Amino acid sequence: MNDSGKPPPLPYGRQSISEEDIAAVVAVLRSDFITQGPAIARFEESVARYCGARHAVAVSSATAALHIGALALGLKPGDRLWTSPNSFVASANCALYCGAGVDFVDIDPRTYNLSVSSLAAKLDLAAANGTLPNVLVPVHFAGQPCEMGPIHDLCGRHGVRVMEDASHAVGASYRGVTIGSPSGSDLTVFSFHPVKIITTGEGGMLLTEDDSLHERLLRLRSHGLTRKLPPGSAPADGPWSYAQLDLGFNYRMTDLQAALGASQMTRLPVFLERRRTLAARYDRLLAPLPLILPWQHPDTRSSWHLYVVRPDPARTGVDRAALYAGLRARGINAQVHYIPVHAQPWYRALGFKSGDFPEAERYYAGALSLPLFADLADADQDRVVAALKALLAA
Ligand SMILES: *Cc1c(COP(=O)(O)O)cnc(C)c1O
Repeated sequence: MNDSGKPPPLPYGRQSISEEDIAAVVAVLRSDFITQGPAIARFEESVARYCGARHAVAVSSATAALHIGALALGLKPGDRLWTSPNSFVASANCALYCGAGVDFVDIDPRTYNLSVSSLAAKLDLAAANGTLPNVLVPVHFAGQPCEMGPIHDLCGRHGVRVMEDASHAVGASYRGVTIGSPSGSDLTVFSFHPVKIITTGEGGMLLTEDDSLHERLLRLRSHGLTRKLPPGSAPADGPWSYAQLDLGFNYRMTDLQAALGASQMTRLPVFLERRRTLAARYDRLLAPLPLILPWQHPDTRSSWHLYVVRPDPARTGVDRAALYAGLRARGINAQVHYIPVHAQPWYRALGFKSGDFPEAERYYAGALSLPLFADLADADQDRVVAALKALLAA
């Protein structure tokens, strides 16, 4: 209850914090290191082990991870990065931080992930024009992995590096392999924002198999500094020596956050199971309604960050705005993911316009993310379903 006496509205997503999570953070507060201490390595190891990845680098956010990931891949002014228009702005902004250009690949109307056939056609055209991208950022929208097999084939053929934006997809898998496992991508990025699968408050991580990318990421995370002097450099002044080799940043995660992350990792299987149960429950309870429900590619297993429905214009005259407003009036805060990135004013100023990516625009016109998080109770989910039934019967 809040001051108005009404229960707080149901959010579309929120964190799940246990007493064990709290104790893990408090233990760091009582320890010698509250940043860059032993909890960082413990968290990195737990995620790397879960994914079977060689290296993991924890940073202050997925936005920071995408930035230093793009830099580590060598992205620079004059280069190009392609991503999906159906994403959070950070997937594209990382290219602009590096002074590179951005373009988008339209989405598949069923998965809402970037379309493999659009990618193939756009790469062929770019190869003919000499305008191939340096980096592709596939986004595993809602937790459903992109079709990485064909994407790796295409990118391999054209010499394009791959950085997966797996912000939604901790614990998801493609063809039976966990996202972040060795797969042919150069880098995989996770987000630990509170609405995502596990949280550190703010936080992100990069996974890679490549030793030199790993070294570069460690430097970029912390001012470009290293104690390992490169071969051929002047002899060290003394045991205190350190050298700045890159123009890096302070993108470090704190030990407080890492301890929370390591504790959340022990709960990840339970989080995933609950999200999958809730998604299957929505599938069943919403099946009779005139809604387009999330379609799953048979090669993928989603982590179910989001559950997106769209009113089916062939079966109902009720539109997304009416559903959004009607749910709000009933204390249910649905959300919209995403306004296509190319439609944002910043990107319009770069020359993008309505109609550039029609599938992403068509999808956006009806998209509505229903509440879905590990602590969502069946009774609250039933309330969402009943509200949709009432609104769609109107
Ligand atoms: C949340 C999110 C990000 C940014 O994550 P932060 O950790 O908040 O910086 C990037 N890409 C996608 C697809 C996201 O959903």
